[in-house]
Amino acid sequence: MHIRVRSGGHDYEGLSYVSVLPFVIIDLINLQSVTVDATNNTAWVEAGATNGKLYYSIAQKSRTLGFPAGVCPTVGLGGHISGGGYGLLLRKYGLAADNVIDAQLIDVNGRILDRASMGEDLFWAIRGGGGNTFGIVVAWKVTWFQFRPATVTVFTVEKTLEQNATQLVNRWQYVADKLHEDLFIRVILERTSSTDARELSRTGLAKDDCTEMSWIESTLYFAGFSRNTSLEILLNRTQPSVRFFKAKSDYVKEPMPEVALEGIWESLFQLEVGSGQLIFSPYGGRMSEISESSIPFPHRAGNLYKIQHLAYWDEEGIEESNRHISWIRRLYSFLAPYVSKNPRLAYINYRDLDIGINNQGNTSYKQASIWGIKYFKITLTGWSMSRPKLILLISSETNKASHLSQLDHHDEEGSYKVEQPNKDVRVLYWTSMCRLIIAMRFFEM
Ligand SMILES: Cc1cc2nc3c(=O)[nH]c(=O)nc-3n(C[C@H](O)[C@H](O)[C@H](O)COP(=O)(O)OP(=O)(O)OC[C@H]3O[C@@H](n4cnc5c(N)ncnc54)[C@H](O)[C@@H]3O)c2cc1C
Repeated sequence: MHIRVRSGGHDYEGLSYVSVLPFVIIDLINLQSVTVDATNNTAWVEAGATNGKLYYSIAQKSRTLGFPAGVCPTVGLGGHISGGGYGLLLRKYGLAADNVIDAQLIDVNGRILDRASMGEDLFWAIRGGGGNTFGIVVAWKVTWFQFRPATVTVFTVEKTLEQNATQLVNRWQYVADKLHEDLFIRVILERTSSTDARELSRTGLAKDDCTEMSWIESTLYFAGFSRNTSLEILLNRTQPSVRFFKAKSDYVKEPMPEVALEGIWESLFQLEVGSGQLIFSPYGGRMSEISESSIPFPHRAGNLYKIQHLAYWDEEGIEESNRHISWIRRLYSFLAPYVSKNPRLAYINYRDLDIGINNQGNTSYKQASIWGIKYFKITLTGWSMSRPKLILLISSETNKASHLSQLDHHDEEGSYKVEQPNKDVRVLYWTSMCRLIIAMRFFEM
């Protein structure tokens, strides 16, 4: 009998509620309380609470307080913080997991442990080592931050290829990680119709593009709600719209050449993609200051940005799913020369079973190290007594669902050996658009 643990149910591969073997779900949905200690800038947050609940609860104390977790309010903190958890405050304050100072965990023997009783090694492992791996997190104790001055400036600028989107994204790659840590500029690449594109008359960033708001209002803005929406919407646990999707992730250490960006445009134009999207999130700032081994999340200095690849579709059925998943795998394969290599790294919270899963029987260390290396940078040669904590991670990656057959196609670096797409397939009246989503923060220095 397998045990699945669910907090927000947002696992990209459904691992909190899917198993090929008989299983029970331990659902933490009723453990949602958030207790804010305004004197010590801390909060105890139960694992079944969502990002939105945490943001809402902190805002009840003051609208100038914030916490560096994810953009989506409905994500559960049990899984989110277990894998790292990042949002628009990444460059300023690091990950959600970087700001955990204590936890309550139920271990395999049913004991309820806190930081002191679990010890520093286990406390290290649960902050980024991946959900459902070391025990069941009941609650996290986090530190939150006070913004001064209280205002955040946000803006979204849209550019088409005709408006030099390629050159703009190319330039962005050279500066986004080096800007002041108060500035977070992420790029979303997607296609749009020529009609939409013609309506995009703006050619540069203007004062009118900028809106000042409190940090809590910016969480609504980035979640796609209008500014006047009641903060109570942050307590809603259901996504406003749900689509089928498959995601992958990459880390970029050198700027990609323009030819790679052009290949991305071409891929987005392909007929079989329902709607594809690439989200580039800049690193640098605080992320470069925190040591690689501070917690199991290892993606720190040396990364320019992270890519999230996404394929969305609405049609049901295996054939449709295969078509869209095949598209995203081709794009992933195409990008292999331009992203991190040996290992090709990935973000555990953007779970991707293409990277590897356990056998239904025994799984060898060598097999498990495929995803140990990609998610956590654990290498066979790096197995040494100087990094004893890492051994724990490799050996405890738990049994996953049944996508192993998909591994037949990929080589050691996760590139898929499939036919390259037909380069002639292009719908001319689609044009590609790049959106720059910028959150600028002003602090008293
Ligand atoms: C719409 C959407 C938006 C997202 N946005 C972001 C973002 O902005 N930034 C970001 O970093 N990530 C983001 N993610 C990814 C998200 O961080 C992960 O999917 C995360 O694991 C979800 O946690 P959960 O509790 O909601 O999911 P669940 O499906 O409940 O759990 C995920 C994993 O953690 C395990 N787990 C859950 N609860 C516990 C617990 N209490 N103790 C131990 N293990 C547990 C589960 O068994 C499962 O393996 C997003 C995901 C979605 C679907």
